[in-house]
Amino acid sequence: MAEYGADRILTLDTTGLGMLCGRGVADTLSDAIAQQPPYAVLFAATADGRDLAARIAARQRLGLTGDAIDLEINDAGQLVQLKPALGGNVVAPILSKTLPNLVTLRPGVLTPAAPEPGATAPVETIAPSPAAGSDATMVSEHLSEEHGALELTAAEVVVGLGMGVTEEGVPAAQQMAAAIGASIATTRNVVHSGWLPHHIQVGISGRTIAPQVYLAVGIRGAFNHTVGIQKAGVILAINRNHRAAIFRAADYGIVGDWNEYLPPLVEAIGPVLAEHGLA
Ligand SMILES: Cc1cc2nc3c(=O)[nH]c(=O)nc-3n(C[C@H](O)[C@H](O)[C@H](O)COP(=O)(O)OP(=O)(O)OC[C@H]3O[C@@H](n4cnc5c(N)ncnc54)[C@H](O)[C@@H]3O)c2cc1C
Repeated sequence: MAEYGADRILTLDTTGLGMLCGRGVADTLSDAIAQQPPYAVLFAATADGRDLAARIAARQRLGLTGDAIDLEINDAGQLVQLKPALGGNVVAPILSKTLPNLVTLRPGVLTPAAPEPGATAPVETIAPSPAAGSDATMVSEHLSEEHGALELTAAEVVVGLGMGVTEEGVPAAQQMAAAIGASIATTRNVVHSGWLPHHIQVGISGRTIAPQVYLAVGIRGAFNHTVGIQKAGVILAINRNHRAAIFRAADYGIVGDWNEYLPPLVEAIGPVLAEHGLA
């Protein structure tokens, strides 16, 4: 972490707090923040991050911006938190009225700082606050694995499948994606149709991803989807409607039927991806 700019690192060992320890971790972090208030506290907009941020905001009576998609510092040195609003039609800048700024951010939206090799920072262990303990008593345990969710967040090449692919087309498109080592993402409408699982949905109510290459296949390109690929490097799109909004987000577009154009496209970009170490 020091290599990425941390001046001081605090660690908290949660092993003694039980499996559900949001309350205990929030108490401890809240105390640490109150003792030496930082300028801002950033949480990942994940289930745990949202839980912690909300608890800390309530304990400290601070404002909280949820699910920001980007951050900026304005001329007055304030942290501007950018958040989709009005159904995703505008991106609203939000300024906190309280300090420290508290914000949850979609994972993958910030560009990592260039590491400074060899940088060091003191590492301190903080003890759980005295009241900390498990939030619940475990009665029984059932683990459900979200296959592909983590893989998608870290993927360098992603193929997004939209309604235009059709349910029958999904297996063939998945195979073509696998041939170039790409992970699969999808739209909410595909998820609602039951063709692919929710944990690979990208967009305002799904994940945010930042692959080097995003290939949108049969995806209209609604803002609710493209907000999740804003940090993608190169975006290629295949859509048979030349007016499709995805072409406004894409760097390269093919107007036509994906059945006809995806196979040669995959064949052509496979070696290019391999050359760049992406396949
Ligand atoms: C509150 C809210 C939250 C939402 N959250 C999300 C979200 O997180 N993620 C998300 O994705 N959406 C989300 N949506 C839905 C979003 O607004 C769009 O409706 C959705 O993204 C459209 O999905 P689609 O592009 O797969 O389907 P469609 O809109 O049906 O588009 C299909 C596209 O495929 C093209 N096509 C058809 N046949 C072919 C073919 N043979 N070859 C090539 N192209 C073809 C068509 O021209 C069309 O452009 C949300 C909506 C709301 C209201």
